[in-house]
Amino acid sequence: MPNQFAPEYVRAIAPYQAGKPISEVAREFGLDEAKIVKLASNENPLGMPESARKAMQAAVAEIGRYPDANGFALKEAIAKRYAVPQDWITLGNGSNDILELAAHAFVQPGQSVVFSQYSFIVYALATQAVGGRSIVVPAQKYGHDLDAMRQAITSDTRLVFIANPNNPTGTFIAPQEIEVFLKAVPRNVVIVIDEAYNEYLNPELQYESTDWVRQYPNLLVSRTFSKAYGLAGLRVGFGLAQPPVTDLLNRIRQPFNVNSLAQAAAIAALNDSAFLQQSAKLNTEGYTQLTQAFDEMKLEYVQSFGNFVLVKVGDDDGAGARINLALLKKGIIVRPVAGYGLPQWLRVTIGLQHENAAFIQALKEVLSK
Ligand SMILES: *Cc1c(COP(=O)(O)O)cnc(C)c1O
Repeated sequence: MPNQFAPEYVRAIAPYQAGKPISEVAREFGLDEAKIVKLASNENPLGMPESARKAMQAAVAEIGRYPDANGFALKEAIAKRYAVPQDWITLGNGSNDILELAAHAFVQPGQSVVFSQYSFIVYALATQAVGGRSIVVPAQKYGHDLDAMRQAITSDTRLVFIANPNNPTGTFIAPQEIEVFLKAVPRNVVIVIDEAYNEYLNPELQYESTDWVRQYPNLLVSRTFSKAYGLAGLRVGFGLAQPPVTDLLNRIRQPFNVNSLAQAAAIAALNDSAFLQQSAKLNTEGYTQLTQAFDEMKLEYVQSFGNFVLVKVGDDDGAGARINLALLKKGIIVRPVAGYGLPQWLRVTIGLQHENAAFIQALKEVLSK
């Protein structure tokens, strides 16, 4: 077996647990695919914007050719939108790619990476894949404790991951707090602010992280087209950082890491502000719908700034798995989060009104048993 020669830290990686696909749940539980409601992966319930569909249809004609390795047109659109030069942009196969590139570029085996308890699981995976040592800082009210995270940084820390808003808890860090953190962290430590859910923030909570990127050479901001932009299946995201960091990331990425349909669709989506507005509005309404139901059912939940809600479904450590299974049998797919150390909770993505209603109805039935 060649596996014995693989690094110990690679063999120790626990596989990522994705949300179950609709087809798999249909097969497993003998259900009709059309009746299954999937609220498990924080996808946009509206699907992709029509503008992106049209852009892809036009781009299909050139699919026999390699994509633009430098993603010129997409970078041009991003540069314009965020008022940064093109050499501040790294395109990724999803923003997951950006997170991994950061770990590969900056972390050597044995060096440490700091992130919060209950933050996105990919931070731990990306760290372990390069033999890094995770320093997991206890959360405060299910969110980041930036003071404690700053104090946790050691002389061998190369990277800090921050998710704002955070997945799976939905918590939000005020920009003032982030600024204090950015000022205090040594410049030889790279800080990644993962803003996968930024587009769902209410206008009064929006902040300009590109201003910080201009100010801090050790800051990398990541964004994705998978959530509010509705393009999860295409795999496209990007990172913003000053040229030295961006240059490194671009050297180690795969030359064609973002395919041509994804590039075309992302440009269209980026310019489709009407779609974003519609998505955000639907999300706000769905959040109210879900949390009102949780209030009525006297279920505890964490206030969320993303397109999902973390809800507590029982007091014993089997509760999440048990309620999840009962929901699956009713054709409702949500996300158990025991792998995050939250075995009494489930994370539910905010869907269309009728999908949220189906979930609430099923949850009531399951909990009354
Ligand atoms: C969904 C998510 C991502 C990554 O999504 P991609 O599809 O790889 O762009 C990154 N960070 C967080 C916190 C997420 O929830």
